[in-house]
Amino acid sequence: MKWLKLSWKIGRISGVEIHLHVSLLLSIPLTYFIFRPSSVRDALIALLVLAGFLLSILFHELGHALAAKLVKVEVKSIVVWLLGGFTLLGREPAKPAQRLLVDFAGPFVTILLAASFFAVYYFLPDISSPSWIWDFSTLFAALILINIVLFVFNMLPVYPLDGGNIVHALMELFFGKSAANLITMIVSLPILLGLIALGLYTRDFILLIFCVFIALAISTLNARTLHWANLGINYLFRRGAYHFMQGDLDRSVQLLTREIERKPQQANPYMFRSACYVHMLQNEKAQADLQRALELAPDNEMSLLLRGDLHFIDRDYDSALEWYDKAHQLHPKSALPYYGCAIVKKVKGEFQAALEDFDKAVSLRIGFPICHVERSMAYFRLGNLDAAHKDQETALLLSEKDALTRAEFAHQAYEGYLDWAEDYYGWVLCKRPRSWYAYQGRGDACRANREYEKAILDYTKAIGLNPREPRLYLTRGKSYWANGEIDCAKTDFHQVLAVTAQPYLRRQAEGLLESLNGGEEHPVG
Ligand SMILES: [Zn+2]
Repeated sequence: MKWLKLSWKIGRISGVEIHLHVSLLLSIPLTYFIFRPSSVRDALIALLVLAGFLLSILFHELGHALAAKLVKVEVKSIVVWLLGGFTLLGREPAKPAQRLLVDFAGPFVTILLAASFFAVYYFLPDISSPSWIWDFSTLFAALILINIVLFVFNMLPVYPLDGGNIVHALMELFFGKSAANLITMIVSLPILLGLIALGLYTRDFILLIFCVFIALAISTLNARTLHWANLGINYLFRRGAYHFMQGDLDRSVQLLTREIERKPQQANPYMFRSACYVHMLQNEKAQADLQRALELAPDNEMSLLLRGDLHFIDRDYDSALEWYDKAHQLHPKSALPYYGCAIVKKVKGEFQAALEDFDKAVSLRIGFPICHVERSMAYFRLGNLDAAHKDQETALLLSEKDALTRAEFAHQAYEGYLDWAEDYYGWVLCKRPRSWYAYQGRGDACRANREYEKAILDYTKAIGLNPREPRLYLTRGKSYWANGEIDCAKTDFHQVLAVTAQPYLRRQAEGLLESLNGGEEHPVG
């Protein structure tokens, strides 16, 4: 955000840079129009109110900054601008409880300030004729009001205001991240719309400008925001895609099928349904849908990329590269085709060329944790461990789940990278010994490299930490089968049926049980 950068550094408070934003230049004429002072004395009081307002914002942000330091998050700077302030953190606190503390610290300081100003106001002598004391009580009354308004406004449950962040952290604590995203969105949107309506009705331009900034923040802040903004839009307008992003694949297929029946000439539903089939490991159906999508919209970037992905899954790397190249020709400014080319070059052992493409994808803000994970594999092969670890850290900051695990159709990426996996997951598990995602990821890597006993150990640890995750039983069962432990495999596949209602996972488990009971050999791979 470029407008963010137009600010002056005025100093540091315990290592935190304090910036004043260029928009504050407007504050003096604005104060003049609000107060319309008729004497020097009035003007002085108006300026004191303005100074008190800006200091109140600064203290509010210092509250956030101090709490962030308490939970060991680096604070980069505080920016005070015309309508508020923000604290730039080096990263987001990892745990929802820590975020809760950081988010609440600002409003807490604000309410403390209101109380302190009230105490001063209360003890000022009661005088009803104009004098300095009378002016001071006006000033303190204004500051009390300002801090109460700041508190109420900041506590509105609208993302990315403090109240919205608090709602998000609380919901994440109780219901997990994806539900928290959805709930925050459902709570935020109507209030934001209400504020806009209020701003229009009262012709309150300041409020309207504020709403624009909230909307901007929602759309541009970071990968997490972007993800749930996407999620929200998808939920409201394209239910099928929403269920897909939430992993409810059968429901997605059902809704997309209905959409295809309604509008058979649209390419996107075919493309989305094809992506669902890829995740369900039904590649033939995926091929057929993609074929149709490309007939209807031959230039669609996602379809071209998905075609490349399907060749990639089939290990036809040259054809995959052709399709990614085609997507790049038609969409030269997009990051995704670079990523596609990079993973093909990596698989072919052309690490330097792969790195160039990864770099381009990252510089175009691809925002996928997996791109950093893949680049770390290339760095690892080239012996640049520092760069590899840096990418792994970036990926983990973007999303723990996506940095550590992959959908099953993508497990072949681990082949030949067992040494990398042991380095990466070993390092993560040192820092986060209770991360079941890390055990799952390392288990998948072991299984892809046919180290079934090691895989079984890791899956067992992951199951110990999260006994309700059907995929863990599914992959452990497959490892048991490959290892010749048929009874253990059967128990695990039965366990899948016991813990999940997801039809596509149940179908997989039932299919596997059928093959086992028929005495079939474990399929190679
Ligand atoms: Zn705040």
